Amino acid sequence: MKSARITGPNEPLAVSETETPKPQGNQVLVKVNSVGVCHSDLHLWEGGYDLGDGQFMKVTDRGVKYPVTPGHEIVGTVEDIGDTVSGISKGDQVLVFPWIGCGECPACKVQNENLCDTPKSMGVFQDGGYSDYALIPNFKYLAKLDGVDPDSATSLACSGLTAYTAIKKANQNSPEFLVIVGAGGLGLMGVQIAKAITDAKIICVDLDDQKLDTAKEMGAHFTVNSKDPETAQKIMSICNDKGADSVVDFVNAPPTAKLDFAILRKRGNLVLVGLFGGSIELSLVTIPLKSIIVQGAYTGNYNDMVELLDLARKGTINPVISKRYSLDEANTALEDLKARKIIGRAVINP
Ligand code: NAD
Ligand code: ZN
Repeated sequence: MKSARITGPNEPLAVSETETPKPQGNQVLVKVNSVGVCHSDLHLWEGGYDLGDGQFMKVTDRGVKYPVTPGHEIVGTVEDIGDTVSGISKGDQVLVFPWIGCGECPACKVQNENLCDTPKSMGVFQDGGYSDYALIPNFKYLAKLDGVDPDSATSLACSGLTAYTAIKKANQNSPEFLVIVGAGGLGLMGVQIAKAITDAKIICVDLDDQKLDTAKEMGAHFTVNSKDPETAQKIMSICNDKGADSVVDFVNAPPTAKLDFAILRKRGNLVLVGLFGGSIELSLVTIPLKSIIVQGAYTGNYNDMVELLDLARKGTINPVISKRYSLDEANTALEDLKARKIIGRAVINP
């Protein structure tokens, strides 16, 4: 099989040929039709996350071993199955749940494998889908597409799933005004999902007018370009000068986090999702005085992914896929995402 692999931080991805594996036991071999290009692949390629103050969290310290095949948004056709696989047959079109856990820890025991203490996520800690074949460790991580377009379905494994979890958390206080920061792959899914499952008025923030226009088409009621130095005041005035009930930050870098705290109203609910990183200084006393909630969201579980597939099948959500690349163009795909040239999601069709 042919794979585009990360060999080390910031090194060009290397396309290499290895023997196509034969699935054993519960394993399934999937012929990859389409794999989403996520900003998290860029963090993996860059070798880690910015902690602020010149500090860097290396992915190798979190258990990543190079070389690794990235790609966690995998859709494909079942090519071969192990002898104990049930409910999945050769030729089925499937979406892969990549957030695989140990199966033993408290999170895995309640089906939240995405929050496992020792994660084995595909495309991060084990080889993923920038490849013509992917070996899935267990058939239980597959969901049948049953009519959903393969390119669109890819984003339901990560950008859609993460946005779904985050919007559900942001909806816990029944927000009147919900601010979505970042209109990229995750944020645009967030807008569609918020439109579908909340009653909130949606305010979307980004630096790019074209992305904000797309957010409006997807259902955002208001958009604000945060290049504008009056961004916070503009949002406050949309929210009747009280502030936003909930904010979901799909960027989560110092400028956006400062904005989040500035526009969050009393009893507000802040959900941090992006991994752009950095650090900010917080005025501690405002947290109890305003009684705000600050929480993180990390991907989502298998059941949520199946619910999302259902929403996509009904046409309630329509992931935006704006660009397609071949496996040999994997480097260009990542460069284009880094240069913010992608609207919604790009996919690789190996
Ligand atoms: P993307 O590159 O598609 O989108 C990022 C968007 O943020 C772009 O539209 C960009 O214009 C905008 N942006 C950047 N800086 C900004 C700023 N200062 N102010 C306003 N807008 C700004 O990325 P994506 O694939 O949507 O991923 C977003 C982030 O979420 C990444 O850090 C990614 O690694 C992370 N992520 C987190 C999870 C999770 O489970 N928590 C899952 C997947 C991805
Ligand atoms: Zn992702």
